[in-house]
Amino acid sequence: MLIGAHVSPAGGLARAIERGVERGCRAIQIFNQSPRMWRPSTYREADVEAFRRAMADSPVDAVLIHTVYLLNCASEDAEIRAKSLASLVHSLRAGQALGARGVVLHAGSAKRGDAAHAIRRAGETIRRALAESERCQLHLENTAGAGGTLGRTLEELAELLAAAGGSRRLRVCLDSCHLLASGYDIRTPAGMDALVREIAARVGLERIGSLHLNDSQAPLGSNRDRHANIGQGQLGQRGCAAFLGTPALQQLPCVLETPGEKRGGAKREEVQLAVRLHERGVAARRRASARAAAASASAGRGGYKRR
Ligand SMILES: [Zn+2]
Ligand SMILES: [Zn+2]
Repeated sequence: MLIGAHVSPAGGLARAIERGVERGCRAIQIFNQSPRMWRPSTYREADVEAFRRAMADSPVDAVLIHTVYLLNCASEDAEIRAKSLASLVHSLRAGQALGARGVVLHAGSAKRGDAAHAIRRAGETIRRALAESERCQLHLENTAGAGGTLGRTLEELAELLAAAGGSRRLRVCLDSCHLLASGYDIRTPAGMDALVREIAARVGLERIGSLHLNDSQAPLGSNRDRHANIGQGQLGQRGCAAFLGTPALQQLPCVLETPGEKRGGAKREEVQLAVRLHERGVAARRRASARAAAASASAGRGGYKRR
């Protein structure tokens, strides 16, 4: 698993790699435009080259681009949908230029309207964005389910993937805080196994493209999106370790989007805590499967003796 954090590209794209290295990241995530403005930032070729060079010389092996929160691909307002489409296409092209693993998108919100119609509109916008860009993957993030946001369940993510045409470039991004808030109890290996089975059944494990590790201030099933620092929320260190140790997720990039101290985002200490919790989660899985193997071997021997 490539663990890292959301970082700022302020001061030049390559600065994002620097910030990732300072924090001990193997993966980073950036916004490719100002989070509060529609106007996209266009990268100069020299900046893109500097970014790629800095990345090649660093331990950072995966980059994710997060679209800004203004986007609503499902909006009833055609102008908002058109702006969302333009911004999404821009992000996908930036993702391709930077060699990103994918662009992470919150598919949109139905607001108070009908979810099925909203899913259709979001699907159409996403389908067009894929058609207007070449290769970069698009990762639909599961949401906490607040205020009509689409993608709160795996069932809804599956509907979004289908509405968007099911392209091979489509993946999902699993956010641990949003999973808990939307009612998936992922705080134990058994809970994670149940989730993985549901993912396999609804969308296929190969559709998982990236992970967000965030603790949650709000409780299970609260539908509230309130990130907490790692180990300081409802997941706790054990819950985070269970999420990170899940065998099916080991090949993925995983970035923290936590508030950090003074809301400055995750720093090195927190990324290192996540790395340790990952090791703890993987070790717990290894012990559990060794115990299971020993139990089945001794059950076998017991059977033999009885005969
Ligand atoms: Zn997230
Ligand atoms: Zn969130």
